[in-house]
Amino acid sequence: MTTLLLLPGDGIGPEVTDQARRVLERLAPEIAIETRAFGGISYETLGTPLADETRDLALKCDAALMGAVGGPQWAGVARHLRPEAGLLGLRSAMGVFANLRPALCFPALADASTLKPEVVRGLDIMIVRELTGGVYFGQPRGIETLADGRRRGVDTQVYDTTEIERVSRVAFNLARNRRNKVTSCEKSNVMETGLLWREVVTALHAREFADVGLEHMLADNAAMQLVKNPRQFDVILTDNLFGDLLSDEAAQLTGSLGMLPSAALGVDGAPGLYEPIHGSAPDIAGQGLANPLGAILSLAMALRWSLKRASLADTLEAAVAAALTGGARTRDLGGTLTTAQMGDAVLAAL
Ligand code: NAD
Repeated sequence: MTTLLLLPGDGIGPEVTDQARRVLERLAPEIAIETRAFGGISYETLGTPLADETRDLALKCDAALMGAVGGPQWAGVARHLRPEAGLLGLRSAMGVFANLRPALCFPALADASTLKPEVVRGLDIMIVRELTGGVYFGQPRGIETLADGRRRGVDTQVYDTTEIERVSRVAFNLARNRRNKVTSCEKSNVMETGLLWREVVTALHAREFADVGLEHMLADNAAMQLVKNPRQFDVILTDNLFGDLLSDEAAQLTGSLGMLPSAALGVDGAPGLYEPIHGSAPDIAGQGLANPLGAILSLAMALRWSLKRASLADTLEAAVAAALTGGARTRDLGGTLTTAQMGDAVLAAL
């Protein structure tokens, strides 16, 4: 039996994943849904942001769909018990090293971007960010006090060839089913890891993906090009740190944070972790104001990449586009629909 693990999490997480659940029950009632507490709510009820049973279930299911975790009420909790620690622990247990973040501008929303509509209309970029290595994980790290009383903070940016190759393979394979172009972004002009990144991507391309177009771009230039001429990009391949920044920048091109899905994938056949890119939005939680489309489009990605129902993913993405074209808008998109009413609009379009 195919199983989806639903991890609603905190803040608006339960509200938006509830709409995704309704959609899945309509689209594919044969897929079983298991729901578990995760993040801050799990810490409150189970004493840990990620229970062992939840982690084991995530490894056994076909895909996990998460809402969001975190909130100001857990700011004072020990770092290893914070909601974010649960998320990092889950990503690492699932071995999801490739983060796919599409930046897609729905035609009906071209006017919602802060950029001119003619710059973003038809935009369709896929950012592939390395997710389990680099400066967020490298050792040594920490803050120490020196003999003279000054404090010193250290983070270490580190990558090896295996880490670079496996995420690059994901990017090249994706490009083959899109517009066949990969732009690899690093800082090879000033960083050793950037230099290695460029060498490894170049060699892999020559060995296995010579049919795919490859260009290298310094990450700072990519940040500029994303606002100047975003449609030049098809697949952007980059490391954890630069991917964090470039994908948030690309998100803004498309209008609202509430619209955007993401996938985190590991080796072929292993379950993927899917989540909207937004956080728990404590400022609007519990009020029915959240846009559920990021969560619903994350479900579409899960249907495509893990649940082996690509045609249902197409159907769902078309239904979201149709709902938007029909004028469905939550408040972040300038409308008045509640979270559940936006879910209704997608179900009606289905
Ligand atoms: P956020 O994404 O939660 O919110 C930023 C702004 O966007 C807020 O004004 C919010 O109301 C709005 N927004 C977000 N999602 C929306 C939606 N679906 N519909 C309408 N408006 C939406 O980011 P933040 O405020 O920086 O972080 C809040 C909390 O979320 C923090 O605790 C942070 O650590 C956590 N967070 C979690 C994740 C995750 O679970 N993957 C990601 C980012 C932030």
